Formats: sequence, structure tokens, C-alpha cells
Amino acid sequence: MVTITQQEVERRLTTVQCAICKQSSFAIDERFMGTDGDWRGICKKCFYTFPVHTDMEFYLRTQPDVPFHLKAISCTTCNHRGVDLDFRATLSVREAIYFVTCKGCKRQFPEKSSLEAFE
Ligand SMILES: [Zn+2]
Ligand SMILES: [Zn+2]
Repeated sequence: MVTITQQEVERRLTTVQCAICKQSSFAIDERFMGTDGDWRGICKKCFYTFPVHTDMEFYLRTQPDVPFHLKAISCTTCNHRGVDLDFRATLSVREAIYFVTCKGCKRQFPEKSSLEAFE
């Protein structure tokens, strides 16, 4: 089930850089917005596209290591450990980003996923 909106995803993507041109201006390509939660992000500057995954309920169920990883992420603002995963984007083969929300202060920030680097 997808609970996040397209607008929210586009807003949160501005906190990361394009893997190619290093700009931070993205959109979701609506032609590829599947109901299964697999969307496609597109850089507005260089038109590079990358997968965005929004069905985190399914992802967490199929990737048992991820919840442990999320519990270990600490917020850089309040130092609380443990975040909620809102969606993830694979900006390049080496760069998967988790977009998370701190459970303590509700700050939203991107976190590089170390788990997926070795897939
Ligand atoms: Zn770009
Ligand atoms: Zn926090």
C-alpha cells in the first residue's frame, strides 16, 4: 500500500543531489507511476531517471534486515535513535537513499543506505 503522495516525494527529493549533474531539482514521471508503488524520478536538469520505491510496507516485510538498520540510524538533530522509513530512491547503482523521519523530533532527512550498496 502506498501512503505517501507524489508532491511529498518530489519535495523530499530536493534534499538530495542528482547522481549525474549534482542538481537537486526532481519530478516524478507520472507515466511510470504504478499502483504497486514503483515510481520513476526524473532530474529536471539532465533528464536522468531513477527508480523510486514508495511501498515500504511491502519492502520491510520482504527485507528483514532493514528494520534493524532503521533502528540504528540516529538523528543528527536530537540524537534519537530509530527512524521511520517513508520511501527510498536508487539514485545510482552505488547510491540508494532512504528518506526517513526521526521518531523523536519528526525531522525528515535522507540517509544513505549502506545495506543496498552490496546487493
Ligand atoms: Zn541531473
Ligand atoms: Zn530527531
